Amino acid sequence: MGGNGNGKPLHAMVIPYPTQGHVTPMMQLSKTLAAKGLIVTFVTTYHRHAEITQANSCSSDPVLLEANKLGLDIRSAQISDDVTKRFGIPWISFWTQPVAVYSIYHNFHLLRSHGHYPPKGIAFLAEELDDYIDYIPGVPNIQCKDLPLFLQLQDPNSDYVLDMLLKSYQSARRADWVLCNSFYELEAEAIKAMDAETPVLTVGPLLPSSYLDSHNPKDITVGTSFLTEYQPSEWLDSKPSESVIYVSFGSLVHVSKTQIEEIAMGLKESGQPFLWVLRPDIISSKISTCLPDSFMETCKSQGLVVPWLPQLQVLSHPSIGGFFTHCGWNSVTESIALGVPMLGFPLWTEQYTNCKLMVDEWKIGLRLRGGHRDDKVIHREEISRAIRTLVASEEGKAMKNRIMALRDSARSAMKAGGSSQNNIEAFIEDLKFTVHVGNGSQTN
Ligand code: UDP
Repeated sequence: MGGNGNGKPLHAMVIPYPTQGHVTPMMQLSKTLAAKGLIVTFVTTYHRHAEITQANSCSSDPVLLEANKLGLDIRSAQISDDVTKRFGIPWISFWTQPVAVYSIYHNFHLLRSHGHYPPKGIAFLAEELDDYIDYIPGVPNIQCKDLPLFLQLQDPNSDYVLDMLLKSYQSARRADWVLCNSFYELEAEAIKAMDAETPVLTVGPLLPSSYLDSHNPKDITVGTSFLTEYQPSEWLDSKPSESVIYVSFGSLVHVSKTQIEEIAMGLKESGQPFLWVLRPDIISSKISTCLPDSFMETCKSQGLVVPWLPQLQVLSHPSIGGFFTHCGWNSVTESIALGVPMLGFPLWTEQYTNCKLMVDEWKIGLRLRGGHRDDKVIHREEISRAIRTLVASEEGKAMKNRIMALRDSARSAMKAGGSSQNNIEAFIEDLKFTVHVGNGSQTN
């Protein structure tokens, strides 16, 4: 299936940006392509490779462990952290955020021409934050406060990141194809709007098959964790159905000590069982103890706090009732694919936009406003109220019903004949044709 028309299999080189949120879905994309007959070489930096080896304590190549169990032809290569050479081969870019965010960066010039960028002060003024932006093709009415963070601020640090993001967006624009970890039924308007401009193909949600259509029940994990995973199954088994609030803010963001304390007390006061991923560096790499005194002692029977765990396994457990999340795009897509409503607490980059879509467009969760931008601390009462609404109210039940319907669409998208599966197959056929015809300077 993955031959190039000359009988030789296509060979793809997959190079993720070396963070957890990119390495994991790109390994799952590699598995999807290899299952269609392509040979894939998965390229990591030496640094990340060593980290994954240590976290997964295995003797063979840990990056390949899960893929090889499935008999897929995925190979591993390491490069130093500053390799940028390009060869004359087809170039496929993988976009790890929603298509709607792609459209925002694509139409950055419209923000400028409408006076919504740059902000008038170092950040948007209070009155600007509520301004509506209704002119970005395929993006529903959003407000300035829902833009990716780097478009909301003007300071040397965020200017630097914005510059990097715009450059990576500009380079994605020159790619022959842009694959996106989303699905048509979720973002039809944004996809239609981008279609006319640039070839964005949705190929997600990229999760192991056992969490989607189970056509390959052995495909249960991606196996690219940077940290050792705690196994919480036994604890989860002991909790009532849909009662547990799962809390995780992903692999990168920092949260202030005061905010962590309020979250801790909010969880406690909600009365719901909680499972909390508290990374040792959540406040900063220098501070490792951040919970209020005697918190763990008093919450012993209510909650469990761990440094890292297998998130997909957790989200698919029947005792999980809600996900208190920073709205990283992987977490949002995983939660949708597994039917868990969310309490959004965006802190950085496009998490604000993801949260806006999740709450107001798809109506599958609630939002807590605060986080980095305005240093507002969200208090325990607001947190415990939101948790109870999500997990134990009629409003929460309606969100659960809507996310279950989206979950079904996500699963259908990845099934044979589904929108994402069709895109993957059409993409491979086009790729074979391009390589075969040898368009331009491309070689196999
Ligand atoms: N994750 C995990 N275990 C944890 C917490 C997170 O495996 O304890 C995974 C999660 O399933 C997701 C990724 O880490 O695939 C986080 O990506 P996301 O885009 O949500 O956030 P980021 O880390 O990029 O901010």
